[in-house]
Parts: sequence; C-alpha cells; structure tokens
Amino acid sequence: MKSFEEFKPTVSISLHEGPQTDGAFFFTNKYVGSEMILPVFKRTYEKQYSPSAQSYFGNKLSVPGQFATKGLFLILMRLWKIIFKFQGFGSYCADRKVPALVMETSWTTAKTSQRVDVQFIALKTLTTHLSSAQFQ
Ligand SMILES: [Zn+2]
Repeated sequence: MKSFEEFKPTVSISLHEGPQTDGAFFFTNKYVGSEMILPVFKRTYEKQYSPSAQSYFGNKLSVPGQFATKGLFLILMRLWKIIFKFQGFGSYCADRKVPALVMETSWTTAKTSQRVDVQFIALKTLTTHLSSAQFQ
C-alpha cells in the first residue's frame, strides 16, 4: 500500500462484480456519509439497475443497495485482520479515515454492457459530485 501512502487519496471507489442474484450494492465504510452516497444511489438506481435487497453473503440489507460495514461484520473484519494479517481495502481506508465505496454489480446479469455502464454511472456521479462546490 505504498502508493496509497504516497498518493493520500481523499476518497476511494472500487468497482467489483459479485454473485448476488439481483441488482447492485455498495460496501461502505463509516466515513461514507449520506451526503456522499445518496447522489450515487439516485443516479445508479434511477433507470435499468436496481439496488440489491441482500448481499452475496445472504444477509438482508437494511438499506437496499448499501452494505454499511458495521456491527458484526466490522468485528469479523477486525478478527480477519488480526488472524490473517490481511484486510479488505474498505477497512484499510477506514483505518486511515478515508471514505471507501466498493460497488458490487451482479455477474449474473445477462448483459455485460449493462453492468459496466452502471459502474461508470456510479463512478462519474461520485467524481462529479465530489468536485461540485459543496465539497470544495
Ligand atoms: Zn468484491
């Protein structure tokens, strides 16, 4: 993570695919506030792509489309780090107080272009939103 320490990002978005059977969701660490995620949700889920009701771990998402890393999941992540000396990137970012979003589209979606398009929509929305006046 030398490049992370050199670059010092102020936000991170990772684009992934997962085996959930419906829609997309975002893992978010505790530094992702509603002012950051809501514009991304609005644009991402407004048309052809729907928010997942559950993650690929099978847990129901209390906010469809968002897996906020907290509670039991956060404890498991901390144990994982202690035992295996490894941590997910969202957790790594949280240790450095950097907001992190990990978008998971469904690889069961028939059209690849649909999955890729919605990831670009999310990425573009986040970068446009962060460069707007309210975050300057
Ligand atoms: Zn993933």
